[in-house]
Amino acid sequence: MIKLRDAINLDREKIQEIKLQIAQLAKDSALNAYILDNNSLSTANEGVPILIKDNINVKDWEITCASKILKGYKSPYNASVINNLISNNLTPFGRSNMDEFAMGSTSESSCYGVTKNPKDTSRVSGGSSGGSAAAVAGGIAIAALGSDTGGSIRQPAGYCGCVGLKPTYGSVSRYGLIAYSSSLDQIGPITQDVRDCALLFDYIKGYDKLDSTSSKKVQNESIFKNLNPNRKFKIGVLNRLIKNSNKEIQDAYYNLIDLLKKLGHNIKEIDMLDLDYHISSYYITSMAEASSNLARFDGIRYGSRAKDIENIKDLFLKTRTEGFGEEVKRRILIGNFVLSSGYYDAYYLKAQKVRDYIKFQYDEIFKEVDIIISPIAPNVAPKIGEGTNPLEMYLSDIYTIGVNLAGLPSICIPIIEKPLPIGMQFITSHFKEQDILDLALNVEGNL
Ligand code: GLN
Repeated sequence: MIKLRDAINLDREKIQEIKLQIAQLAKDSALNAYILDNNSLSTANEGVPILIKDNINVKDWEITCASKILKGYKSPYNASVINNLISNNLTPFGRSNMDEFAMGSTSESSCYGVTKNPKDTSRVSGGSSGGSAAAVAGGIAIAALGSDTGGSIRQPAGYCGCVGLKPTYGSVSRYGLIAYSSSLDQIGPITQDVRDCALLFDYIKGYDKLDSTSSKKVQNESIFKNLNPNRKFKIGVLNRLIKNSNKEIQDAYYNLIDLLKKLGHNIKEIDMLDLDYHISSYYITSMAEASSNLARFDGIRYGSRAKDIENIKDLFLKTRTEGFGEEVKRRILIGNFVLSSGYYDAYYLKAQKVRDYIKFQYDEIFKEVDIIISPIAPNVAPKIGEGTNPLEMYLSDIYTIGVNLAGLPSICIPIIEKPLPIGMQFITSHFKEQDILDLALNVEGNL
């Protein structure tokens, strides 16, 4: 598939031709990466086509978050990132499949069925932005947008073998992203390589007054234009903490460290709190926020409404019982529980204290090193149906969620292609995306 940086230089006719080709590929593909029962593959709008996760509003498109409860709901407005694409001669094109309401790590909870991994179709594509990553890695999209609350851009990119960036919290507007966990969610690019990632990030980043958590610290300067693979960094490695991984992941990690040494970077061993605390703090926080954010889907204002109802309570109950899938219901229940009086202090408040401590630890580490390298997941993409135990699925997020708790930027790049892709992430301190993109470019060119 053509790279984004080349596509933006093509003339109008050629771009329209590519769109028709992509639409055909999307329809013929067995990956189930695209949601096809909507009008999102229309070529009416001009611009380079970018695939959009089904939780980002595009005016007049159906938006469902891969949930039955939102079926039939059409967006009245564009998310700010979509307006940013349009003002840079890009256009939203195609809806990508995902875990329902972005809750999951395999894309199996989608009401449209699972998205398959392009490198081995018996395996999952990861999640929750599984459709975006599978389409980009499978050669049926130029580039895509995803969202990352606890790894949902990086982990599917790692499982499928493409590049994904979770930007600093506040650097990309969340206006028009359907909220899962507002203090953790970020929109970011999923691309074929590092240069395209820098370019797409340039297009979507920036302060937005419509998002109250948007930051004025985001640099306007182009990261793409300033890419420099020759800078040398002080890199922190987590030797103790990667013992939680399978052998193939550990081997890939140690090989990456050797490569970084050879490329002239300075390696330093670091340590931090056991990552189990990341899991506890993340899942309490995200479920609490989700229970509140999803309260608005009640059968009155959005999407589907249950039939044969007797009173308003019945309407809420039936609509939510029929509309939400099992994992979403589980999280709403747990989220309400940890916020309820008597349990708030024991769970929610404690999770916030742990979250603060995790942020503090990262701050301390970044006084000593510029970048931390870490695996994306303790394993390669599991087989479809293999990871359905919720607790096991939560535990597989062990390496990605600390980044969200601390609001940091992190990029996942593929380190190993075969037999199955393995991705690694480069994490840095707030608003220093240039550093991780520079290092990622250096590594990508020397694999
Ligand atoms: N797997 C994590 C969860 O289920 C992360 C999902 C995400 O980043 N949206 O919450």
